[in-house]
This record gives sequence, C-alpha cells and structure tokens, in this order.
Amino acid sequence: MGIIFGPVASRRFGKSLGIDLSPGRKQCNFDCVYCELDPAKPMDHYESVLGIEEILDAVDKGLRTHPDIDVLTVTANGEPTLYPYLDELTKGLDRIKGSVETLILSNASTIHRPEIRRTLARFDTVKLSLDCATPRCFRRIDRPEASVDLEGIKEGMLAFRQEYAGTLIVEILVVAGVNDKTKEMEALNDYLLQLKPERIDLGTIDRPPAYPVQPVSYERLRELSLHFDPSLSVHITSRKNLGAITPSAYSREEILDILRKRPLTPEDITLLFDAPSRRRLRDLLREQKVRLEENHGVNFYRPA
Ligand code: SF4
Repeated sequence: MGIIFGPVASRRFGKSLGIDLSPGRKQCNFDCVYCELDPAKPMDHYESVLGIEEILDAVDKGLRTHPDIDVLTVTANGEPTLYPYLDELTKGLDRIKGSVETLILSNASTIHRPEIRRTLARFDTVKLSLDCATPRCFRRIDRPEASVDLEGIKEGMLAFRQEYAGTLIVEILVVAGVNDKTKEMEALNDYLLQLKPERIDLGTIDRPPAYPVQPVSYERLRELSLHFDPSLSVHITSRKNLGAITPSAYSREEILDILRKRPLTPEDITLLFDAPSRRRLRDLLREQKVRLEENHGVNFYRPA
C-alpha cells in the first residue's frame, strides 16, 4: 500500500487526499474490537518509520496530480500521532500545501502530551475518537496498550480545547453489547458538555471488524443520540439496518419538540419523516420557526 490514497470525495470535507503514515503494517497503541485492520498487539511507538522527505515527496506528487484537492487527511494504518516526526512533517505540509486544508484523524491516546497538542493545533480540523468515558468500557472496546490512560486522554482533550482555534470533531463508534448502554452515553454526554466540540459523529461498525462484534441499528443510534444535550451537534454517520425504519407522521408541535431534543440532518429527516411531515417542516422553515444551520460541512435543522 502507498503513502498517498484517494482522492476520496466526502460531503463533509470535500475532495480529500489521504496520507498514510504507516502504509506497510498496522502500528497502533489500541487494538479496537471494531478495527477494520487485523488484530495486532498494541505498541507504544512505531517500529517501522518512514522518512519525512519520502512522505513529503509523495504528497507533493499527489497534489500535482490532483490540483483540485480541498483537504489533506493525515491518518495511518494505526495511530498517526505515534509517528515520531509528526511535528516536522506537519510544518513540511504547511510549506507545500498552498491553500489546501489539513485534517488529522487520531485516537487521542497521546493528547495528554503538550508537544502533541501543539502539533495537532497546526491542523485546520482535528478529529479525535472517544468511544467511552468510563475506564472499563474504554478498555473493553479500544483494548489500549498498558500505558494509555483514559483520564489523561480526557484531561488532554480539555486542555486542547482551550488551546486550539480550529475545528474539533469527536467520533464515537458504537458496538452492540459494549458501549451501547444508556449509562455510557450519559457519561459521554457529561464529558462532552465540558469539552464542547464543534461536532460529534456517532456511528457504528461499517466494515468487517477485527473481532467478532456487531454493529447497532440506525434506530438504536438515534435512541442513543437522545442522551446528548441538544446544545451538542450530534451527527449520525452510519445507516445500518435501515430496513426497520418506516417514516412517521409528526405534527408541527411534535417536529419542534423533536428538534428541541436533538437537531436533525436532512438525511435523518428523509428517513424519519413521511411526506406530509416534511412539508410541515418546510412550512416551519419558511415561517422562521426552524432554521437550517451548517456546522462544518453538515446541515442541521434546529428550532429558531
Ligand atoms: S485506533 Fe484505529 S487503527 Fe488503532 S486499533 Fe483502533 S480502529 Fe484500529
């Protein structure tokens, strides 16, 4: 596998060119049950390390081949913040990328370290995983290397929120029978109310997982999303087991009540609302009782 992958078109980030900092093998300090890579013993550092120039050359070629790229996405077959030269690499990317934005996807395991936070702060968007806010659940789902500490992650994320001026997105991946409990969502909600990320992406397993675990349905994700405070923008990213969904009829008052509990995306509306309810929503929008608000590439209907 190469260092550069894509471009991949995404509604949220536009046209993205991926940079894989560990293309040869999985190198991660987690061994998540839902990982789409094969299971591997977690490690606390990269054993196989690419040179900075090799990566920058590959990115430079990628940008010349695809001049219409909107975002460079730094990721890895594993955890990108374990790459030992990430800070220098990020500075190199800043030199060659022109007006292209940058995004990094991290499992947040190293964010307790101030120097990692300084590096992450150079990205336009930082997307951090946080699947559980309680230690037992965290260890069951993410199976981290022994030195990784959930409290350090939570404190590090709060410190990063204070220091960082860009867009912070938190991703929660829900696994049936592991973190799909009300109490786990309530613990995440309590913590995320302090953190105040720009957006929370709530999803489930979409690809064959490393261990024999199951996704939850879209309906379950929707129920779980109601445990989050309405001030948090929760975006359901997975559309699993949609066969069970039948669009329902809602009155104007019910629509306002639903949106007060949780803002919905146009995709949610298409799935959940029947045609007359969608017309009622359009009326409420025209009467300015509901507004459609863009949140970092995702639209949400909210009460005005
Ligand atoms: S953090 Fe990502 S790469 Fe690492 S085990 Fe979990 S899902 Fe896989």
